[in-house]
Amino acid sequence: MNAYVSYFRPEIDNMTGYTPGEQPKGAPVIKLNTNENPYPPAPGVKKTLEAFQYEKLRLYPDPLALEVRAEIAAMTGFTPGNIIAGNGSDDILTIATRCFTDVHRPMACFDPTYSLYPTLAGLQGARCIRIPLREEFEMPGDALEQARNANLFIIARPNAPTGNLFPKAKMEEICAKFNGIVLIDEAYADFSRDNCLDFVRKYPNVIVSRTFSKSRCLAGLRFGFAVAHEKIIDGMMKMKDSYNVPMLTQKLALASLWDRNYFDTCVAKVKATREALTIALRGLGFKVIDSDTNFVFAAPPIDAKNYFLDLKRRNILVRYFPAARTCAYVRITIGTPEEMTELLNVTKELIGKQ
Ligand SMILES: *Cc1c(COP(=O)(O)O)cnc(C)c1O
Repeated sequence: MNAYVSYFRPEIDNMTGYTPGEQPKGAPVIKLNTNENPYPPAPGVKKTLEAFQYEKLRLYPDPLALEVRAEIAAMTGFTPGNIIAGNGSDDILTIATRCFTDVHRPMACFDPTYSLYPTLAGLQGARCIRIPLREEFEMPGDALEQARNANLFIIARPNAPTGNLFPKAKMEEICAKFNGIVLIDEAYADFSRDNCLDFVRKYPNVIVSRTFSKSRCLAGLRFGFAVAHEKIIDGMMKMKDSYNVPMLTQKLALASLWDRNYFDTCVAKVKATREALTIALRGLGFKVIDSDTNFVFAAPPIDAKNYFLDLKRRNILVRYFPAARTCAYVRITIGTPEEMTELLNVTKELIGKQ
């Protein structure tokens, strides 16, 4: 056989690819590492799944996902023409990167933020301008100036993995003045004090993306959407895979939207648990960033990497990001109150040991 020769574009060969959080198989763990919701999806989702006629899978899904887009439009006060559905919101991020960046059109994003953004730019062969956040992960005053050469500025708000919420007035200033697309990734907005959906009405260069993976307890379903000016949605529809949202995903996403009360209850429970965990961790000497999400970003009073590894040995999985800006912290997903009690008990032992 001939020796292997790479035919990949050099940017693909030279990159490492995105590393998702671990999905453990086997031994039961308390899984607090990928911001999944600890509660099951809405009962209506179960009913719809059970009533689903499996023979229908023979057919292609609606390529335009019209029913679910119409429901989202009704709920948000927009029209279906303002909504695009995605295979998770990661699909939306990929579509946007492909639409708005290339070798001549860089992306901009903060550092630290969701590490998928620079990976997507790399895959596209686009430069990614990283804008360092200040102490406490606040936005720098000259963010607009630093991003000025980019054509796409992706901002996670609330930010991940830090959990904080950039001031809405600063966001609006960026939307009004940035000469390019501002994509506001609102994956965690349902857990947050406010959101930026209203900017879509005022600024034709703004895209707001959302996901069903966190607040709707449906990470396995892969459903996300974005809201933007009709012209932007039209262009993104050209770029997406024809059948990017599976039939079952469309049906179950719709069922989730109909169960409004379940959704509200779930989100309220997670927020209450988040507040209690924040107080408890601070009581143990952790530095905890104020969170508007379903996780907390917390610096333990002991070495963070050892704390992460020790928790793992005790079958509690959290996330550790070894980069310089984040290596003193762990990211802990909000679980059930029982899971948080177990986490705190083990934590007390580990801190006592040092
Ligand atoms: C979880 C997450 C997403 C992606 O969620 P999907 O499961 O692909 O919908 C997007 N952005 C941020 C910041 C996230 O944390």
